[in-house]
Amino acid sequence: MKTETKRLAWLRPELRELVPYAVSPITVPVAVNANESAQSLWDLPEIRQALLEELQNTAPQHYPKPYADELRSLVADYVGRTQDEVLLANGGDDILGLMAQAFIAPGDTALIHTPTFEMYQLGVTGMGGRVVAVPDTGFYEHDVEGMLAAIAKEQPKIVYLCNPNNPTGRPWQREELERLIEVAPGIVLLDEAYMEFAAPEVSLIPAIDTYDNLFVLRTLSKAFGLAGARLGYIVSQKENINLLSRVKPPYNLNAFSQALGRVALRYKDTVLAGVSTVCSERDRMIADIEALPDIAVVPSKTNFLFVTSPKATAIYEALLEEGILVKYYGAGHPLHGGLRITVTTESINTRILKTLAKVVKP
Ligand SMILES: *Cc1c(COP(=O)(O)O)cnc(C)c1O
Repeated sequence: MKTETKRLAWLRPELRELVPYAVSPITVPVAVNANESAQSLWDLPEIRQALLEELQNTAPQHYPKPYADELRSLVADYVGRTQDEVLLANGGDDILGLMAQAFIAPGDTALIHTPTFEMYQLGVTGMGGRVVAVPDTGFYEHDVEGMLAAIAKEQPKIVYLCNPNNPTGRPWQREELERLIEVAPGIVLLDEAYMEFAAPEVSLIPAIDTYDNLFVLRTLSKAFGLAGARLGYIVSQKENINLLSRVKPPYNLNAFSQALGRVALRYKDTVLAGVSTVCSERDRMIADIEALPDIAVVPSKTNFLFVTSPKATAIYEALLEEGILVKYYGAGHPLHGGLRITVTTESINTRILKTLAKVVKP
């Protein structure tokens, strides 16, 4: 047997300190820790039949379409662009990996703000790049001036921006994003994973005509309820999509996921009908939480809430007791004292609110 030290020496040096991403086992009936949709496509009667037909017509012995042509054209229509401005991959996470592979060389710098989506850092570190982080200020407010100064100083290869941001839920202003995109000397990767829950008119997808350096990431995991199918995409000028295509494995997107994605987009009005309910539920929860003592909530424009409280651990435990798992940041984590809660069905949201009230106002 090799000793642990010997094995570690096999790894590329930049990977030796990394810990594999771990997901807590779900042992309770309700998991609202991962921003998933509460709705299964199988439960929408009109869609169920279409899903069965598509899956039946999918042949497992054949390789899938390398660029998922039909799905790609449906996605292009959905975002109002052409097919050659869209690239699909195995989830947004896979897109982030491709972006890092294509653009980050050892020693390159990437700029993020904190807290934000953890996967940005992983992609950059994995390629031997270095991540510079500008902390949010106040109650998780984006430090635009700090970001501008960091761009000027570090000249980052990629600037990662997430609108609205995960895990805080806070949106960026359009002018803030445009100021950053204008001064960025390299690429800006704008992550719009939750855009359907914000105002679709604040999407910067139309701005790819203006900005050569803008790549906009989207996913079918959240509003479309297809986290299990792993379907993500990026939208940019077609010359940029061509650059990224160089690192895409030929058959990265399996045929069954492509089939599920086609149905979700063909029936997008039905699939997305629940989004406005989630948004009004989110706003109701924010209003209720704002009226409670000892707990604060970021004004979210997503399908989740980030709350902070000196009683965060007690809240987490009380919710578990109720059979509800939220995202908890353990002692030592920079976000300790915070909890991220996915907005879900009205009755569960109400149970969550009651439990929060019970803990902070015993
Ligand atoms: C969920 C999420 C993604 C993409 O997730 P996939 O399931 O891999 O498509 C990307 N960015 C953010 C901020 C997310 O929360």
